[in-house]
Amino acid sequence: MEASRDVVFDGVTKRYDDGTVAVDTLDLTVDAGEFLVLLGPSGCGKSTTLRMLAGLEEVTAGEIRIGGARVNDLPPGARGLGMVFQSYALYPHMTVADNLSFGLRMVRRGERLEAAEIDERVREAVDMLGLGPELAKKPRDLSGGQRQRVAIGRALVRRPKVLLMDEPLSNLDAKLRGQMRIELRRLHERHGTTTIYVTHDQVEAMTLADRIAVLDGGRLQQHASPLTAYHEPANAFVASFLGTPPMNLIDGVAGDGRFVAGELGITLPTHLAGASGPCTFGIRPEEVEIVQADADGVAAEILGVERLGGESVYHLEVAGHSIKALWRREDLAAPNIDLAVGSAVIFPKSSES
Ligand code: ADP
Repeated sequence: MEASRDVVFDGVTKRYDDGTVAVDTLDLTVDAGEFLVLLGPSGCGKSTTLRMLAGLEEVTAGEIRIGGARVNDLPPGARGLGMVFQSYALYPHMTVADNLSFGLRMVRRGERLEAAEIDERVREAVDMLGLGPELAKKPRDLSGGQRQRVAIGRALVRRPKVLLMDEPLSNLDAKLRGQMRIELRRLHERHGTTTIYVTHDQVEAMTLADRIAVLDGGRLQQHASPLTAYHEPANAFVASFLGTPPMNLIDGVAGDGRFVAGELGITLPTHLAGASGPCTFGIRPEEVEIVQADADGVAAEILGVERLGGESVYHLEVAGHSIKALWRREDLAAPNIDLAVGSAVIFPKSSES
């Protein structure tokens, strides 16, 4: 049974009328209480996936189940979902308190909630979201972050089985986005509602998700915890999508414990020593070490440096390949290394392929 699997996409495909296949045979499960992030570049099918789950888009093939029950043909209102979108769509003429309770005061499927029940749910959301001082205000008197909290509160008071969020932070400035990421994660730990969150921002995905589903071209590339996807990417797409700067990828050939790409030859670490044939060698910028010019390694030239304060990104050219190396402050304190634009050597500490 799928008791602990709250949401299941079982071979789900979406083909739009113009022939575009936005989602291609998606198999994905979301466990009860899990925070799943759908991550990928613009146009990869994230919103379509969410909209099919929400009932806003028809499923072309396959089955979607919520709590074990097929929902393909259920209208959106009957699926027990809460939704938070990029545009918060708060009612501008209503106070925060009314925005929160409005949906509950409507008669839904013939059922009307008791006033005491409505008050209780609103009070719980207000406490959780710290909206007490804002209750009498109108949306125009709130900051972007406060509006976002009201939108989340409005979804949560419905006690949804699954909370859906589509790029909910993209209208906020960078600083506020950073704060809201922490807040959303803490909030999730308190309410524990199964959450599916769409974003193209890998930092949001890394920091919010229990698991990430990486999509590209409508196809699932990897479904794993953020750190697994980072350290053990399923393919070159995932490797280059996660991480800033992204993983360095070099196409070449492996054999006899070495990787060769043109004039670049690297001794493979033991766990990759058995690799053979054409392959892509990947190494994270933070794993690229720069050592003394006379040390054993591969000659490289430093083409430029981005000094970011706590860390610096070195742009290197190694036998015709562009490689980025990320160095933290403590690395930079290493003695006897000439980090001026000029010569150096790189030497991989560890690597993936
Ligand atoms: P994302 O949310 O990852 O940016 P979408 O799910 O919105 O991607 O879109 C996936 C693909 O489907 C894109 O190629 C997009 O152009 C296409 N698409 C989205 N909506 C429609 C539509 N109504 N009709 C035709 N194609 C669409």
